[in-house]
Amino acid sequence: MTVFNRTRNFGSEADVFSVQNADGTLASFNREQYVLFPGFCDVHVHFREPGFSYKETIRSGCRAAARGGYTAVCTMPNLNPVPDSPEALRVQEEIIRRDACIAVMPYGAITKGERGEELADMEGLAPRVVAFSDDGHGVQTEEQMRAAMLAAKHLGKLIVAHCEDNSLLHGGYIHAGAYAAAHGHRGICSESEWGQIQRDLRLAKETGCGYHVCHISTKESVALIRQAKREGLDVSCETAPHYLLLDENDLREEGRFKMNPPLRSREDREALLEGLLDGTIDMIATDHAPHSAGEKDKGLAGSAFGIVGLETAFPLLYTQLVKPGVLELRQLLALLDEKPRARFGIPRRNDFSIWDLNAEYEIDPNGFLSMGKATPFAGQRVNGKCLLTVHEGKIVYQAENAEE
Ligand SMILES: [Zn+2]
Repeated sequence: MTVFNRTRNFGSEADVFSVQNADGTLASFNREQYVLFPGFCDVHVHFREPGFSYKETIRSGCRAAARGGYTAVCTMPNLNPVPDSPEALRVQEEIIRRDACIAVMPYGAITKGERGEELADMEGLAPRVVAFSDDGHGVQTEEQMRAAMLAAKHLGKLIVAHCEDNSLLHGGYIHAGAYAAAHGHRGICSESEWGQIQRDLRLAKETGCGYHVCHISTKESVALIRQAKREGLDVSCETAPHYLLLDENDLREEGRFKMNPPLRSREDREALLEGLLDGTIDMIATDHAPHSAGEKDKGLAGSAFGIVGLETAFPLLYTQLVKPGVLELRQLLALLDEKPRARFGIPRRNDFSIWDLNAEYEIDPNGFLSMGKATPFAGQRVNGKCLLTVHEGKIVYQAENAEE
């Protein structure tokens, strides 16, 4: 595939792009509003294979990612088998080799089976994983986390923490706030997240380990990480589009509004936006977590935790943060590409995407390439349509009617 006239900088308007497909056909993009973006990088996705291919496969997850403009993703280890040894990881690696159309980099588990009892074979995994995480579960004991950080530091890898203190959950499934109180739901308190972040920051200081916090959702988490950065700790964090754009006031009695951590209060959301603007929050990850329809149609109490996000992240963030002037486009591109790649050491290859930012449409889960359809953003109007995504010089996604 050849790209002609790939001019100017990412984020600037394109003059003309001509992209020649492998079969010789030519696709041209020459309208003023088309823009060239880098291939986005998402450090937090669940592609569910091996073990849960009825929810998503590496093939379907990659196609969804490419449609969202992503060319690199890091896959979380809550799989079966859990990649806690080189042998277990090999199962996933073989599927990636066979089915992935973009860069898919697996995490290794921190503990065996993500059970929090015994460290995984971190040394054996290290050369083949992007970093270590027990995502889906918090590492409950301080001893276990200290040992993991010491091992990760020795191996030159990041610890990527899903922070959740099980002793504070009490069966909760949405934020312990006004909505839960008004509708008789069991709440998850904010401390279940920030309490563990506070512990881990102390351990990161003690061990000198590079530490990254997954999907932060509370104002206390933002304040703790801001302070840790001031102290010079090697710490970073991500949040997800839904924590920036929604809060408990948007909740409805539907499973598509249920994820972990939950949508918090308006104050929390505002603190996250502040953290995004002052650099406390380093990147935006989707936490793309697909489930089957049957697992998501049981209301807030009965549905599985998790929503999809790869196909809607950029259009939502562009429409709701860039267009109203909260964030500049170049800042959003840094949060979706430069910063995650820099922190996780993920190179940018011949990867890019072409977008029509004026295209306006309604988010329709039935059109998703992901097997998961649950999103709280269904029916919202957005601007920004990905026309074409290229990974390592090959077209990995092309919208219908994208050719002129
Ligand atoms: Zn998580």
